[in-house]
Amino acid sequence: MRTLAVFGATGSIGGSTLDVVARHPDRFRVGVLAAHRNSEKLAQLCARFRPQCAILADPTMENDLRRRLASAGVECEVQSGMAAISEAAADARYDTVVAAIVGAAGLDSTLAAARAGKRLLLANKESVVMAGALLMQALHEGGGELIPVDSEHNAIFQCLPGERPPLAAAGVRKLILTASGGPFRGRTRRDLHDITPDQACAHPNWSMGRKISVDSATLMNKGLEVIEAHHLFGAAPDIIDVVVHRQSLVHSLVEYADGSVLAQLGNPDMRTALAHALAWPERIEAGVPPLDLAAVAQLDFEPPDTTTFRCLDLAFQALREGGDATTLLNAANEVAVAAFLEGTLPFLGIADVIEQVLAELPAEAVVDIQTLRARDLKARDTARRCIGGRC
Ligand code: NAD
Ligand code: MG
Repeated sequence: MRTLAVFGATGSIGGSTLDVVARHPDRFRVGVLAAHRNSEKLAQLCARFRPQCAILADPTMENDLRRRLASAGVECEVQSGMAAISEAAADARYDTVVAAIVGAAGLDSTLAAARAGKRLLLANKESVVMAGALLMQALHEGGGELIPVDSEHNAIFQCLPGERPPLAAAGVRKLILTASGGPFRGRTRRDLHDITPDQACAHPNWSMGRKISVDSATLMNKGLEVIEAHHLFGAAPDIIDVVVHRQSLVHSLVEYADGSVLAQLGNPDMRTALAHALAWPERIEAGVPPLDLAAVAQLDFEPPDTTTFRCLDLAFQALREGGDATTLLNAANEVAVAAFLEGTLPFLGIADVIEQVLAELPAEAVVDIQTLRARDLKARDTARRCIGGRC
């Protein structure tokens, strides 16, 4: 029996996790549910999953959550604040942490789970992009295990040998990440001037939170995933390739020295990756319909359009630059995406802001988490200045 701490429980990944968990009450128990500030939804989840503890990052919502739980007759510990989430990540009562907070807000709890030697189910890719080297070091020192939940990395994890030798020793020639191309695949820059947030969030294959949906539309999601693959699998930037595959059925591939290419396929439903990571090395039912290849009939592949979607190259550029460049890239992207969603930055401006931040702030060596955090704030300030036209 595994006892889970689910961070980001009210989100898209949180919901998919709990859907799988509900199918296997004999295997999984929910210890903690944590979210940002949606007390209504968190209270409903608590009534259904009866965790030992519920946490809201926003302390101003704590009393509201207490009131809702009391009126529903649900008994559980209630806490608030980001520090409470990180403490829960390290709490020995919970052996498995689902890191599904969106953005840099997930970094502390992800690091805390890694240091505490938990089984870490990692969806929060921004924490790897921001602090990959420190996270991998914390994981090594904590002695736990990281199972990637991002579908591409989960696919690669499944296609690599179980004993996890270094890639070269395993005969790996390339990691090939698939990208759906997002809702604007096939468009040119001219078509993208007046894109609205709702258009950008209407993903053809996946239903996801708004931030990652915009990242998919700009191809920054794939850029973040290239950086994620670099850290999770120890892959040099030159052996990571991206191919556009519009059906989102091949989730990624590994090419070996002998010419073999192994892929993982499945319907585009995050419950597959989550069920795999929850039960690994076993396999369990995820509620995902079987893939009907004869009905699919065709799988298409094409190179990414990096002229229209500049964010992918910006991510490669930051990864190759090294040091804390990917921290700056992530911070600038988070600020730019938030501004786009608020209507203060055009869609094409997202890449411009990131490019300007990277040009203004040369990369520095990664020293420790405090220094990284200061650099993250500096990049956010610079991005806000750019958006305000003062760059
Ligand atoms: P979402 O917006 O649907 O949910 C985000 C969750 O994070 C919510 O529960 C919210 O309450 C919580 N949250 C936000 N800010 C917080 C804060 N300051 N403190 C504590 N909690 C906070 O997002 P999502 O689509 O579920 O994505 C979550 C993460 O998983 C992201 O990093 C995303 O890139 C990654 N991911 C998502 C998918 C997907 O299919 N949705 C696939 C791969 C990876
Ligand atoms: Mg992904």
